[in-house]
Formats: sequence, C-alpha cells, structure tokens
Amino acid sequence: MRTLITGGAGFIGSHLCDRFLAEGHEVVAVDNFITGTPENIAHLLGHPHFKLIGHDVSNPLKVKDKLDNVLHFASPASPVDYLEHPIQTLKVGSLGTHNTLGLAKAHGARYVLASTSEVYGDPLEHPQKEGYWGNVNPVGVRGVYDEAKRFAESMTMAYHRVHGVNTHIVRIFNTYGERMRLNDGRVLPNFMYQALTGQPITVYGDGKQTRSFQYVSDLVDGVFRLLFTDDPNPVNIGNPAEITILQFADEVKKLAGADSEIVFRPLPQDDPKIRQPDITRARQLLGWEPKVGRAEGLKRTMEFFRGKVRK
Ligand code: NAD
Ligand code: UDP
Repeated sequence: MRTLITGGAGFIGSHLCDRFLAEGHEVVAVDNFITGTPENIAHLLGHPHFKLIGHDVSNPLKVKDKLDNVLHFASPASPVDYLEHPIQTLKVGSLGTHNTLGLAKAHGARYVLASTSEVYGDPLEHPQKEGYWGNVNPVGVRGVYDEAKRFAESMTMAYHRVHGVNTHIVRIFNTYGERMRLNDGRVLPNFMYQALTGQPITVYGDGKQTRSFQYVSDLVDGVFRLLFTDDPNPVNIGNPAEITILQFADEVKKLAGADSEIVFRPLPQDDPKIRQPDITRARQLLGWEPKVGRAEGLKRTMEFFRGKVRK
C-alpha cells in the first residue's frame, strides 16, 4: 500500500510516517515546513519506502504513482502558530482539504481528515460527544483554525456523499509527545521548557480551565484503525483523563524536579474553559482506547525535552 501524509514533517505527521512504514506501507510525506521541520523525519530519509515532497498543499498536487490512502494532517495546530499564520491556516484547512480530497478521489484512495476538538469551540456540553455541534466564535482570533476545520469536515462529507470517496474524520483532542517544537507555544512545551530551565511557569487565566491530554502513540493507533473502517462520521480520539491547567503545571514542575514559581498571565481570547472527549464511539467502532497514561507519557516527553534543552 502507498500512503500519502500531508504535514508529514510535523509532530503528529512524523509519528504517522513511522507507524505506516512499520506496517509495511510506502509513505509519501508532503510538507512545506511552515511549522514542521525536516529534523522530525531525518531518520527516515534513507528509508527505501519513504519519500518526502516539499509542497504547499493549499496549491493543487498531482502524484503519478497509485495511492491507496491520503491522510490530511497539514495545518498549523498550536494557537500561537495559527495566530501567527491566520491566512495560511484558513487556506490549508479549506483549499488544502479540497486539493487532498481531489487527490484521494483521483486515486480511489481512502482519506482521513485531521480535525480537532476545537470544532466544539468553548463547549456548552461536557464531555463532548460527536453529536455536539459546538460553540465557536467565527470572528474571534481562534476562528481561523476552528472554522477552517469545520469547513474541512463539511467538504470531506460532501466528497463522501457526492463522489463516494471513502472518507474519515478524526477529531483529535490535545496530543503531546516527542517531536513537539520546544517553542510552539502550546502548554506542554512551554511548561516543560520553563521547568527545565528554572524559569517561572506561565499559567494563563486562573488555571482552572481544563484539558485532557493524550500521548501521541494512542492517537496514531486510533487513526490507523479508523482508516480501515467504512464509517465517514467524525470520531473523537483523545484521553478522557481531564486536568486543570494549574494541576498540570504542578505535575510538570514535580516531574522536572524544578523549583520554578508558578505565575499567572492573561487568558487568551476565546480560550475554551473545559474540554474532555467522550470516546464511546471510538471504543465501539474501533475497539480503541488510550493505553499510555499521563505519568508515563509525560516522563517520555520530558526526556525528549531534556535532550533539546541540553543542545
Ligand atoms: P505541527 O505544526 O507539528 O504539524 C503540522 C505540519 O503541517 C507541519 O509540518 C507543517 O509544516 C505542515 N503544514 C502546514 N501547512 C501546510 C501546507 N499548506 N502545506 C504543506 N504542509 C503544511 O502540528 P501537529 O500538532 O502535528 O498537528 C497535525 C495535525 O493534527 C493538524 O492538522 C492539527 O490541526 C491536528 N490536530 C492536532 C492536535 C494536537 O494536539 N497536536 C489537536 C487537534 C488537531
Ligand atoms: N496555557 C497556559 N500557559 C501556557 C500556554 C498555554 O496556561 O504557557 C493554557 C492555555 O491558555 C489553555 C491550555 O493551556 O487554556 C492549553 O493551551 P494550548 O495552547 O496547549 O492548546 P489549546 O488546547 O488551547 O488549543
């Protein structure tokens, strides 16, 4: 099988490349490196079944060799990144999704769209089930990401209904692990960097907002299972273990053995107050559930960041 992965040089994309190669697929990674880095896939560059194409998928792309699967994971994903690249984010979620769906249609390939818990916005239902339509501010600063992903979901369903493409939508909840960028601005790299360098840990708002963090190998396993179903409906993939950001700061601090103080900074606009996936559907459809708890996942990720900080 040949599998094309957009955003293949990103955090999640590079782990997907590893998994699909390990499953015996040929992998074609497509990336324009706007937020990713060749370093994430440097270990794959000599692999006989791996190919890297430098391309902005907001522009059409053609691939000669037959593709069996197209996974669209290209998009800035950290709030800091998508606030810095609002138009590129809107384009890759809309035009990029259209282009990659066209590619899947041309090849008769299976398709996975990387969607997000952000389609639920600042949710008024808790935990979030796939049937919840969300509470998104279209003109707020986060709208560029949330609305692009909502459009992407609609476009994906239209390609399924009109063209019969075998599409899938994965709604990914906060995912962490090795190869996150130290300076991507998300909470985990920020806290780990701050703890490891003895700087103050910056909690935004009062820290009572919650997130539910999943380790990257669990996500990759969920995506792999979803690809081989015939169900086009969205599926949440996340770890329901919910925690406040203040508790999270404390956990990271303890794990690093740091004596950093915890300081409070203003809460960014439209920052969701609560977030927790309902994973009933993933359990039933995929026989999937998260296997790596925070204690183990954070330990592994901390080792990775220790190495980065030492460099
Ligand atoms: P990332 O920034 O590490 O990876 C995204 C990759 O896409 C980067 O390598 C970037 O260079 C590439 N890219 C962006 N725009 C592109 C374009 N126009 N053409 C080609 N390549 C492009 O982010 P990530 O955390 O690995 O996220 C990957 C995907 O998963 C994204 O679609 C994101 O929305 C989704 N997602 C991630 C999370 C999470 O917690 N990490 C949560 C929900 C959804
Ligand atoms: N956050 C924080 N300090 C930081 C970075 C983020 O308190 O240095 C908070 C942020 O306000 C949000 C949560 O941590 O409530 C998760 O933020 P992140 O940017 O990782 O992702 P989000 O889930 O908001 O997309």
